[in-house]
Amino acid sequence: MSTIRHFIAGTDAGAADRTLPVYDPATGEAHRQVAAASTAEVEHAIAVAKEAQRAWRSSSLVKRADVFFRLRQILTERADELAAIVTSEHGKVLSDAAGEVSRGIENVEFAAGLLHHLKGERAEQVSRGVDVHSVKQPVGVVACITPFNFPVMVPLWMVASAIACGNAVVLKPSEKDPSAAIWLARAFQEAGLPDGVLNVVNGDKVAVDALLDSMEIGAVSFVGSTPIARSIYERASANGKRVQALGGAKNHMVVMPDADIDGAVTAAISAAYGSAGERCMAVSVLVAVGDIADDLVEGIRSRIGELRIGPGTDPASEMGPLITREHRDKVASYVAAAAAEGGTVVVDGTQRAFEGDGFFTGVSLIDNVTTDMKVYQDEIFGPVLSVVRVNSYEAAVELINANRFGNGTAIFTRDGGTARQFEYDIEVGMVGINVPIPVPVGAFSFGGWKDSLFGDSHIYGPESIGFYTRSKVVTTRWPDHTPAQLDLGFPSNH
Ligand code: NAD
Repeated sequence: MSTIRHFIAGTDAGAADRTLPVYDPATGEAHRQVAAASTAEVEHAIAVAKEAQRAWRSSSLVKRADVFFRLRQILTERADELAAIVTSEHGKVLSDAAGEVSRGIENVEFAAGLLHHLKGERAEQVSRGVDVHSVKQPVGVVACITPFNFPVMVPLWMVASAIACGNAVVLKPSEKDPSAAIWLARAFQEAGLPDGVLNVVNGDKVAVDALLDSMEIGAVSFVGSTPIARSIYERASANGKRVQALGGAKNHMVVMPDADIDGAVTAAISAAYGSAGERCMAVSVLVAVGDIADDLVEGIRSRIGELRIGPGTDPASEMGPLITREHRDKVASYVAAAAAEGGTVVVDGTQRAFEGDGFFTGVSLIDNVTTDMKVYQDEIFGPVLSVVRVNSYEAAVELINANRFGNGTAIFTRDGGTARQFEYDIEVGMVGINVPIPVPVGAFSFGGWKDSLFGDSHIYGPESIGFYTRSKVVTTRWPDHTPAQLDLGFPSNH
């Protein structure tokens, strides 16, 4: 069985004294193992990053940008190879994995424009003979901690901008599908990134805690579940670091009575069951407004029996397995609980039988869900769609705004006025108007509100430049020939 090690100073590293299994979710077999870094190994990676960062910071911006142009080329040409790695450890179907790679490339394209992003500001003659300008300087070494569900895209959300800003990075990918991160680090190296600027340490809480507690780490980017995001935020900020910690979600899709029903049904099926519901922007609650509910539920029910569920490597599969056996069983427990709590289980996918030991489940649809049910309250992160029926637009907005999560939401309507009002009213970070998964393009930033994000800064795009740099403001006066005057008062520009 092969062992995935760490990647430090441009080479495989680590003793692999302690390892964790990496499964192929389609077969259920532990086909690889990954080294779990010790505190000492993480500290070594940080020391390597700190040293490499000094030289990287002094490289010219144009040379830095070259790395991203070359990286884009590598990722584009070898996207299929990378997608296959994702499928072999995550389980998602190959077309979905390729989609993830292409969304990750957007972050590389954004980073390639670093010269533009790092420009400062200047004001001339703020006082007589005095000018002011600002510059953006790197924070130093950045820790990036990522979840299993997007093993390429989420690391690129962080790493591309952090490196573009002149930082070095220690990336701790999910221990469930770590190979893609190692592949990315090698691709950066091939693109010309100096060794030590991007390091990957594998492992679990031991590695994460070593990153959070190190005084050499200037900023922490985290994406994962809400309880862990909250604890990462608290521990890292208590240690004086800037932190962005993106958490879980419960995304509602509102369907107004005037919506295009076929379009809404198609969107709901794609967004709820794509990637087996293991997306932070998956639609998990359908909010049916008024009398459209029966048609919506029937439209979805009649089509989900046809979904082809199988190994991600089979081009015929539309949905792959879940990430682990335990997670599949947990998803099933929510469907069982929904029935016990009075929900109408229209389709129970957990009863569908599959050959072999893969972590497969069918898709489930639950109608008449209410806010007191567990299936509504928790992030399930599986192919389970709940339908909540409400009487009015106002009730839909109230429902969503009362939810503790605020990652993404969508409204399906033909009425521009309703759509505009929704955009204004809704307390959620990313909104789709007839778009079910509104993940912003790379030139914007991504982030939820409430329990979906701890910290002040959204991730990738323009906000990432602020997060990964410290601004310095310089006030300048050059000696002219006027004699200097002694003045102990606070300097005034008037
Ligand atoms: P997770 O929280 O279990 O793990 C995320 C990372 O934290 C991993 O690297 C893991 O090794 C590490 N980790 C786990 N437990 C830890 C602990 N006790 N202490 C320190 N580190 C720990 O999340 P996951 O299951 O890998 O990913 C799924 C979750 O991520 C879902 O909740 C999903 O909504 C969320 N997610 C959010 C976004 C977003 O942008 N908001 C994007 C993708 C995924």
